[in-house]
Amino acid sequence: MLNLILFGPPGSGKGTQAAKLVERYGLLHISTGDLFRSEIKNETPLGLEAKSYIDRGALVPDQVTINMLAKKMGEHPEAKGVIFDGFPRTVAQAEVLDELLTQKGTAVSQLLSLEVEEAEIVKRLLARGKESGRSDDQNESIIQNRIATYKAQTTPVADYYAGQEKTQKVAGMGSIEEIFERLCTKIDAVLV
Ligand code: AMP
Repeated sequence: MLNLILFGPPGSGKGTQAAKLVERYGLLHISTGDLFRSEIKNETPLGLEAKSYIDRGALVPDQVTINMLAKKMGEHPEAKGVIFDGFPRTVAQAEVLDELLTQKGTAVSQLLSLEVEEAEIVKRLLARGKESGRSDDQNESIIQNRIATYKAQTTPVADYYAGQEKTQKVAGMGSIEEIFERLCTKIDAVLV
């Protein structure tokens, strides 16, 4: 199985690139942010709980996020591999992911980290907020919270997988196609 973690700060292009990678490699795309937004739209208890964190730019608690992810993986036993987008966001989530994949006889293949400058991220998120109506993209102080949360809680995940020699940095500036080709070059290198 090819199991990829698409990593990077909010606004680094994970969702855009994940959609293209899914098409090229035939993987299951799991975005925990999209799953939460769907729960919020359907006004489920999980959605209600998640919303209180998302609206502040904080992380949803690990156990809530992990349960949702494990359920989603369980619904797709046929998947040839998974692209994880926005997960894991803490080392505790990474440890559970490793356990879940070990139980399935597989493992994380690579963590691909999109490197984007902070000023560019803020610019992209505010632009996305205008287009998508995502409430957490419209307010600069929430954006700053998300960036601070990323630095404090999420960047250790890249170090965790660097310890397994799986972290790859990819320049996340430039055109969507250029970035996509950079990602594919890294992925194809582990496929041969
Ligand atoms: P995203 O669409 O990936 O930017 O996620 C939007 C928001 O959902 C984040 O700011 C978090 O509040 C929440 N979220 C998404 N994925 C996770 C995760 N793996 N762990 C905790 N919270 C998450």
